[in-house]
Amino acid sequence: MNTQELDKKYVLPTYARANVEFVSGKNARLVDANGKNYIDFTSGIAVCSVGHGNERLTHALCEQAKNLIHMSNLYYNASQAKAAQKLVEASGYDMKCFFGNSGAEANEGAIKIARKYGEKDGEIKRYKIITLNHSFHGRTITTVKATGQASMHNYFGPFPDGFVYANDIDEIESLIDGHTVAVMIELVQGEGGVQPQDKQKVQDLAKMLKQRDVLLIIDEVQTGVYRTGKFLASNFYEIEPDVITLAKGVGGGVPVGVVMTSKKDIFNAGDHGSTFGGNYLSSTAICEVMDILNEHDASGELEINMLMFDKALEKFYQANPTLFTQKVGIGMMAGLRVKDAQTLTQIINNARESGVMVLKAGRNTLRFLPPLTITKEEIDEGFKALNHAVASL
Ligand SMILES: *Cc1c(COP(=O)(O)O)cnc(C)c1O
Repeated sequence: MNTQELDKKYVLPTYARANVEFVSGKNARLVDANGKNYIDFTSGIAVCSVGHGNERLTHALCEQAKNLIHMSNLYYNASQAKAAQKLVEASGYDMKCFFGNSGAEANEGAIKIARKYGEKDGEIKRYKIITLNHSFHGRTITTVKATGQASMHNYFGPFPDGFVYANDIDEIESLIDGHTVAVMIELVQGEGGVQPQDKQKVQDLAKMLKQRDVLLIIDEVQTGVYRTGKFLASNFYEIEPDVITLAKGVGGGVPVGVVMTSKKDIFNAGDHGSTFGGNYLSSTAICEVMDILNEHDASGELEINMLMFDKALEKFYQANPTLFTQKVGIGMMAGLRVKDAQTLTQIINNARESGVMVLKAGRNTLRFLPPLTITKEEIDEGFKALNHAVASL
């Protein structure tokens, strides 16, 4: 049986897979099973932050795998301790980390931190968490309920109580009551359509929440790790959240989830845990990805690449006013709003045919999440293929 036959026979059909199978890659280039070449403007949904086949990351992982891949969190682990140091130092916040394995798991950790923070002797427990319409926080039973889109809440109930949805940032304050313990938002909504929040509104929100002792949780699973040009979107928005979650780009493709918090004493031994979280292999990935991207940032190359990408995207947007209605996003988390859903699907399919991979997001958005190490040649080639893809529309 070939891959498609095997997949159809043995894998649960939770994904509407496109008709392509990738077998290798180098930075922003991919090769499929037929030997066809592509430019990758998706990086596995913001995961392959340092590109495919990155030599430094591959080398670090191979060397670590020869020593230890995993031991238990019952023992000290130098890779995990160093990964935590690198993340906290890059953030500029006075925080500590907990390591899990995915974005949803990181958000579960954030929700547990909030729920524990809401536990005060002699008072009514504060447990409600306000999230936003158009958000996305994960696929576990709790994070699916934390996600403020009714379409996500089919079949799987009963769900945990305590999630309240605000239409937008302006509505949050009016929803706070004596049971509210936290607000959880993305600074740029990814799945919801690459929609950035207004900076002043976010800063005002942060100030108001601090005054009311309501925690601010920023879901940086997609925005984090230099996606917006700063290490964290929270840095870009110049706020000091109480809790931050990371996943996608932080392991460069090795599954990792991180929850960081300034409430450094919130958990005691036994309050939370993970068998795999922060093991030698995944922590080594974090350390190497952080070293590569810190250097990429410090050298000025990241900023140059982002400007080049934005310039090419702007040109493509300007050249196709009949297809696109708006350009959205920050840094290398970018999108173009397409006039209708059918055209969006056509563009994505044509693009794949033409040799460039792009993504879909909510609000009819064509989404771009290239590797942060993408080169000028790769950007130019990708947009050349995109021009070809839309020429007939
Ligand atoms: C992808 C994503 C998640 C879920 O991450 P998983 O690793 O798939 O569990 C959560 N929040 C945001 C903002 C995301 O983009």
